[in-house]
Amino acid sequence: MNCAEFVELVTEFLDGSMSESAELSCVVHLARCEGCETYLDQFRQTTAALGGTLPGPGIPAAAREQLLEAFRGATRP
Ligand SMILES: [Zn+2]
Repeated sequence: MNCAEFVELVTEFLDGSMSESAELSCVVHLARCEGCETYLDQFRQTTAALGGTLPGPGIPAAAREQLLEAFRGATRP
């Protein structure tokens, strides 16, 4: 996954409507790319300001954060 692909998928990532494998690709990209992490944060804040979206059937937010932390540890020792 590259940045353009991530940006394209960010809505699906946030509402959990993407497949688990695609979601994992996003998490891996986020762990390595500070720009997209910032983008995601801003996007999430904007979405929340607009009323937010309900959590979808994908990886629960907490588990996703844990995954992100784990990948971060692996890629940024
Ligand atoms: Zn990126």
